Amino acid sequence: MSSIVQQYIDIAKKRNPGESEFHQTVEEVLHSIEPVLEKHPEYIKAGLIERLIEPERAIIFRVTWVDDAGKVQVNRGYRYQFNSAIGPYKGGTRFAPNVNPSIIKFLGFEQIFKNALTGLPIGGGKGGADFDPNGKSDGEIMRFCQAYMTELYRHIGPQTDSPAGDLGVGAREIGYLFGQYKRIANMYNESVTGKAVVYGGLNGRTEATGYGIVYFANCMLEANNEKMAGKKVVVSGFGNVTWGTVTKLDELGAKVIAFSGPDGYILDEAGVTGEKIAALLELRNSGKNICAPYAEKYPEAKFFAGKKPWEVKADLYIPCAMQNDIHLEDAKKIVANGAKFLCEGANMPCTNEAIDYLMSNGIIFGPCKAANAGGVACSCIEMGQNAGHTVFSLDQVYAQLKNIMVSIHDSSAAAAAEYGLGYNLLAGANIAGFKKIAEAMMAQGIV
Ligand code: GLU
Repeated sequence: MSSIVQQYIDIAKKRNPGESEFHQTVEEVLHSIEPVLEKHPEYIKAGLIERLIEPERAIIFRVTWVDDAGKVQVNRGYRYQFNSAIGPYKGGTRFAPNVNPSIIKFLGFEQIFKNALTGLPIGGGKGGADFDPNGKSDGEIMRFCQAYMTELYRHIGPQTDSPAGDLGVGAREIGYLFGQYKRIANMYNESVTGKAVVYGGLNGRTEATGYGIVYFANCMLEANNEKMAGKKVVVSGFGNVTWGTVTKLDELGAKVIAFSGPDGYILDEAGVTGEKIAALLELRNSGKNICAPYAEKYPEAKFFAGKKPWEVKADLYIPCAMQNDIHLEDAKKIVANGAKFLCEGANMPCTNEAIDYLMSNGIIFGPCKAANAGGVACSCIEMGQNAGHTVFSLDQVYAQLKNIMVSIHDSSAAAAAEYGLGYNLLAGANIAGFKKIAEAMMAQGIV
């Protein structure tokens, strides 16, 4: 292990004690960029890495709201404005009970490189709150979003920071967040993305992350002389990202045979296709568990309660649920299943140990910061649409999304090849993203 990199990992651990998710992403990225640092001692001299691992600004605030029973509720809100070297901070907002500084910092750090990979002018940021939207009434969700934005609005803006959705923040929450922003800022602009099309949102933004993942996975297959049509695929989760992924996989002729929910997983050898995808979307929108009701509706499907889908044999795995879904023991099952490809859909769904095992056992690995960048790329296109007071068609968006995903794949593959690492998309994505950020930071002086 290089001492250059290790000293920065140690700094990150010391300065952010107990923040295991943040440590995990810093370790992953810094190990990959080690050869770039060896080639560029001027980066070390300029303190570039110490600056990169320290957020430019962190906003932590109380969110006070009143529930339906009239009780005062207090949550904690966050916005980490991590790096603005190549553009205004851009990144999602996560509402989940386990949200804490470590989770938001890992997401914000990832976002810096992801956004750089898109080739668009957006810096990295992330926000959220330890608020659980499950089981809340519509009125409670609205009051929470309004209270959250009442503090946040002063820290965001088209040239400063533009939040969007993430886990627990979908179209409804974005509507309430934007409505409150507009009310108190008295500005109708691109400070929030992921809006509904009718009030400035981008055609195709909803499915962009999932479609982008499949375009990226398709590039991985093609680069290895394989085709998507006929491939057996296992996914996890059934949120917005999984929905877009499954829809595009189905369109390209791949067969999704398993997916998971909080209650376990479904094995449907006949394939999750056509009408079944629509039924799943309806189940998801009902806010209840999805697997057990799916198995009731489609008796050919088998429900494995409380289990993860990684034991199912497939050609391609796309974990779309959340961080650290695939541990070493799951990676061992995937390798034993004879799989060839794994493409991350969620943010950091594999532990570093799992990634090492998968890659050293011949699995072709697609890292999330490259594969799921289609969502934020389309958010940036939405910003451009709003700033230009115009509307882009669905065809324009899909074409641009596809080009961006192909270019992310190609630039990641090229960066790895440039450093003699072969077809290593994990290292390549980190290197390609880092090079852009580093160049911009060097040009802007010690700030
Ligand atoms: N939360 C998404 C992500 O992880 C989207 C962010 C955005 O659209 O700004 O990239």
